[in-house]
Amino acid sequence: MDCIFCKIAAGEIPSAKVYEDEKVYAFRDINPQAPVHILVIPKEHVMSSMDDFDLEKNGSIMVDIFNAIKKIAVQEGLVNGYRIINNCGEDGAQSVKHLHFHILGGTKLPETFC
Ligand code: 5GP
Ligand code: ZN
Repeated sequence: MDCIFCKIAAGEIPSAKVYEDEKVYAFRDINPQAPVHILVIPKEHVMSSMDDFDLEKNGSIMVDIFNAIKKIAVQEGLVNGYRIINNCGEDGAQSVKHLHFHILGGTKLPETFC
């Protein structure tokens, strides 16, 4: 599959690694929208987007992803909070079709969504 995030997870495309465990990889967004802007992905292409979510099939990887997010927030010193974003599908302005969560922080973010 020709997927940029699969290639990043496999190390075929370089990225600024923030965190890695058996199932999850996290790296800095190439076009940061905040002082801290990290993308958290499952290493395997388990879902193109949250629209594919199925509890039986994907429940466990979602737990892994959110466990990783919690660890990354501590690691990055985001003691005052942060924002987790998932862009889903066309109207959600999702550009990469490999499930990913954005962690934004390092500043007081605007209250508006967009
Ligand atoms: P989406 O709009 O799909 O939610 O977010 C995709 C994100 O991936 C964007 O914020 C974009 O800047 C980031 N991105 C796209 N290509 C690359 C890449 O090759 N490397 C890194 N580090 N980030 C990328
Ligand atoms: Zn992929």
